[in-house]
Formats: sequence, C-alpha cells, structure tokens
Amino acid sequence: MINPIFVAIDTPHMKTALDLVNSLAGHVGGVKLGLEFFCANGLPGISDLSQLGIPIFLDLKLHDIPNTVAGALKSTVAIRPAIINVHSSGGEAMMRQAVSTVEECAANENFEKPLLIAVTLLTSLDDEDLPTLGFSGTPQRQVIRLATLSQRCGLDGVVCSPLEIKPIREVCGNEFKLVVPGIRPEGSDMGDQKRTLTPKQALEMGADYIVIGRPITSSDDPVAAVEAINATISS
Ligand code: C5P
Repeated sequence: MINPIFVAIDTPHMKTALDLVNSLAGHVGGVKLGLEFFCANGLPGISDLSQLGIPIFLDLKLHDIPNTVAGALKSTVAIRPAIINVHSSGGEAMMRQAVSTVEECAANENFEKPLLIAVTLLTSLDDEDLPTLGFSGTPQRQVIRLATLSQRCGLDGVVCSPLEIKPIREVCGNEFKLVVPGIRPEGSDMGDQKRTLTPKQALEMGADYIVIGRPITSSDDPVAAVEAINATISS
C-alpha cells in the first residue's frame, strides 16, 4: 500500500518547511502545503519544495468565478502537485471548468493529472452558522449535497472530516477519493481539533489519505512520531 499520510506543513518559514520535508521524505506519502506557506513563499516556494521529489497536496481552496479559478489552476498545475483543491460552493460551472482545465493541461504537457478534490463545508462552521449563511438543514446534509455535486462535476473526491467518511462513502461510492484531516494518534494532544479519529480508524472507515500536522511537526522527533504512526497503520 502507498503510504496514505500527508503531513501538514503549516509554517510561513521556508527553512522550517525544508528541514521537515527533508527529514520526513521517505517516511510519509506526501506533504500538504496550505495558505500559510503559500502566502509567505508563493509558487516559487512550493516549487522549491517539490524539487525534493515528495508528492504535494496544494491546499489553496480556490474559490472564485470559473475563468479565474481556471487561470489559477493553469499556473498551479505547472509545479506538478499530486493533489489540488477548489471550494465546491464555487458552483457547478466553476468545478466543471476546473476539471477540464486540469485535464487539458495534463494532456497538453504530458504529465499525470493531479487529483482535483473539493472542500465541502469548512469544519469550523456548525449548526448555528448555517442559517446565517442562508443554508437550511444540517451541516452533514450540506456536506453530502456538495460532495454529490462535486462528484457529478467530475472531481476526484473531497476533503472531509472523520465523521463524514461513512455518509459520503455511502452516497459517492468507493472510487471517490476522501482526504481526511482531524486525525490524532492515540494519546496525542487534541489541540483545536474536536472530532478526531486515529490514523488506523480513519483508514479502516474508508479514508484514502489522511492529513496529520502537529502530532508530527510539533514532536521533538518528527521521524519517530511518523514511524510510530506507520507501525499502528500496518499492525
Ligand atoms: O495539526 P493538525 O493535524 O490539526 O493539522 C491538520 C491540517 O488540516 C491543518 O493544515 C488544517 O488547516 C487542515 N484542515 C483541518 N480540518 C479541515 C480542513 C483542513 O484540520 N476540515
């Protein structure tokens, strides 16, 4: 099995990111770089890290009109990320154009198409936020609605919380990729995460990839932390 762990490198500092990626390459499946790193270092910074040969999940959560998202994706896929994402609430036209843009770039420039996945509902939003945004129903219903729409538009999968794995799998099937943050190895600090599963539980429930940040990156020995997780996964 390919290692399913993507380590979240949440830092604005290039040297910290380089040191972490250098030490963790070979122990994890890839790294996730989000807005914190991107806003400080831009695509050149992402490109420098990708030179180290590790698969990159570029978590930019693009959300704009179809033409603008397509333009951003063209620049983004040039650095050959393994996974990229857009917000499903950008709507059907935006997601369909995102899919065709990524497919065209990959075909024209002859590289393997990255997985294009969608963010559904941010997990920082709860029942009380939904009506203020004009949404009716529960967060889970909204997540299922947006995951289904993403699948219909041709996206490869979604980012989802551990609690959403099962309901999304039931509706979207086994081929739809589920990338799952909110993971805490047994005994580790929860930090600001509230609803978590262990790496093994998340994979057994049907996650394809798990995103783990601080339990690895804040450890005194990140390689030992990840190897301990790898041991629990393969046991
Ligand atoms: O340090 P920790 O393991 O909590 O990091 C999880 C990563 O996944 C962070 O980069 C966080 O922004 C991201 N994330 C999340 N929950 C979501 C979506 C993304 O924790 N619903």
